[in-house]
Amino acid sequence: MKITFLGTSHGITEKGAFCSSALVTAGDARYLVDVGAPVDTLLANLDVPLRDLRGAFITHPHQDHYVGLAQLTYTVEDFGRFLDVAFPVLTPEGIDFAALNVFLWGDPRGHERYRVEDPPPRRVRFEVYPDAPAEGSLIFDDGVLRVTAYPVRHIPHSHAFLLEAEGKRVVFTGDLLRDLSDYPRVATETPVDLVVTEAAHVRLDDPDTPEILGKSRTPVLVISHRAPGRNPIESVEKLAARIAPIKVIAAFDGMTLEV
Ligand SMILES: [Zn+2]
Repeated sequence: MKITFLGTSHGITEKGAFCSSALVTAGDARYLVDVGAPVDTLLANLDVPLRDLRGAFITHPHQDHYVGLAQLTYTVEDFGRFLDVAFPVLTPEGIDFAALNVFLWGDPRGHERYRVEDPPPRRVRFEVYPDAPAEGSLIFDDGVLRVTAYPVRHIPHSHAFLLEAEGKRVVFTGDLLRDLSDYPRVATETPVDLVVTEAAHVRLDDPDTPEILGKSRTPVLVISHRAPGRNPIESVEKLAARIAPIKVIAAFDGMTLEV
């Protein structure tokens, strides 16, 4: 499994860093975890055709994790060049996609209004997954990638994801509470190959943070979605020294990791 960080910033775009999004590659299949970045352009930059996308998964209903869906939806739905694109977007409750259709096409039914005869099926299919129970719920399985959602408490309908493909297990924690009291147990109770967590709300230099993150059963912990004012790069380095042998990496846009 390969993870390419398309956007690593927190709520605001920083210099050289878009809001949250990651591209996951398993074999020939591609997936997105959060779509806060202008992913259609970023995928074009990487020579990844949109038809390779098999699914997108949104962790929670905050704009910086889904705003890129507006441009992606418009691009895919409006242009004949992308007739071969079709993938589901698994979203939590709390996002009004009828309002997105009104914004893009002036009609809650979206682009179909303009194709009265033989309207095509939607190529970007929004599917709401219900709030996950503590033990997690499988929200996606296409035979290549399995995605299990676990509840976290950042805002209502917030989730961490466990991604499983090619015999590897990767956890995206999504956004968390500042005190990390909702740090997902799947990252500490089962061995995983990679954890991607945030540093927008969490304070890496809080006294309890190294102890909590250090319990992760992973060889590598990636800090993405970092607010540099709250968590300057030195705080990542200090954390790394505290939780060795776990390797701590500060993500940047365009960074790729293979697990
Ligand atoms: Zn958030």
